[in-house]
Formats: sequence, structure tokens, C-alpha cells
Amino acid sequence: MEQEEVIAAIAKHYESIISLLGDDPARPGLEKTPLRAAKALYYATMGYRQNAGDIIKSAIFDYAGSRMVVVKDIEFYSFCEHHILPFFGRVSVGYIPDGEMVGLSKLARVVDAHARRLQVQERLTAEICDTVASSLKTKGVIVACNAQHLCMKMRGVEKQDSSTVSIEYIGEFAENPALRDEFFRMLTDVR
Ligand code: ZN
Repeated sequence: MEQEEVIAAIAKHYESIISLLGDDPARPGLEKTPLRAAKALYYATMGYRQNAGDIIKSAIFDYAGSRMVVVKDIEFYSFCEHHILPFFGRVSVGYIPDGEMVGLSKLARVVDAHARRLQVQERLTAEICDTVASSLKTKGVIVACNAQHLCMKMRGVEKQDSSTVSIEYIGEFAENPALRDEFFRMLTDVR
């Protein structure tokens, strides 16, 4: 199906949802809402139409350094796959080069490619780690994610101020706790 057909089909469903909720999809304020909502959802889930590994491979450079590289506080927006409500927050990615480095903006795009779909935070964290580890020559990769979930805030639990932290690591980060400590220090100390 072409992109326009998919968006039109999603819009049809939104029209039904609005009716089922008890509102009138034909009233002036809502007339164009199904199509707008469909476009917004399609955009927010564009990760389904991206390949995260290819994003990394498009910008790999030779690099002789061996010190940890950290890109911190990459903002992301995703949908919890259990409630289709947003969860959002920040991801920090660290890696130890092994002859290669990646263009830094690509790490942000990898985060988006995995975030813009129906997700759970734990898998998002693991997928980012796996993509970097399998697409770039490194001695280790570490990913930390801190997020707020609207399904926690808007529904019954209503723990307004809670946030969820998840972490994944591979290679030397798994073998050496001191490297993990160094990563976390870089997240908090370096300004
Ligand atoms: Zn949820």
C-alpha cells in the first residue's frame, strides 16, 4: 500500500474511534482530526520504515582512539505497546572504539528508529545497544534510558513523578564494572 492509502485507512479507523467514544466526527472542530491524527501517528511510528543498522553504516569513520565516547541525553518519544500511550525521555549511549567511530548525529537517529514504533522501554534500550554493537567495531557498548510513561501517569496508578530507568551493556562494559562507573560518572559529572 502507498503511504497515502495507509494514512487514509488509519484516518477511517480514527473516525470510528471518535464515534465510539461518543463524539461526532463531523462537527466542525473534529472534521479534519481523523486525517491529522493519522498523519501524526504515521510520522511518530516511522521507525517501522527505517533500518537502524543502515543508519550507523552510512557514517562510519576510521578512528585510532580507544577512550570511551558518550553521547548523552538524546531525547526520544515512543509509544508503550501495551496501551498505545506515549512514553518519552532521554537515552545516553557510550561505546569504546575499536578502530572505528560513528558520526554522532547517527546515534540520535538510531534512537529514533527504535523509539518510533510500538515499544517497551526495556527492549528499546536493548535494541539500541545491539544495533551499535553489531554495526560498528567496538570493544563494548552501554545504553541507559530514563523515561516517563503516560500509561503510568494518566491511568489508575497515577504515580505522577515516577520515572523508569533501564540499562543494557555488552563487551567490556559487561566484564568491567569500573567502565560502567566511568560511564555513569560521565553522565552526571561532565557538564
Ligand atoms: Zn503502558
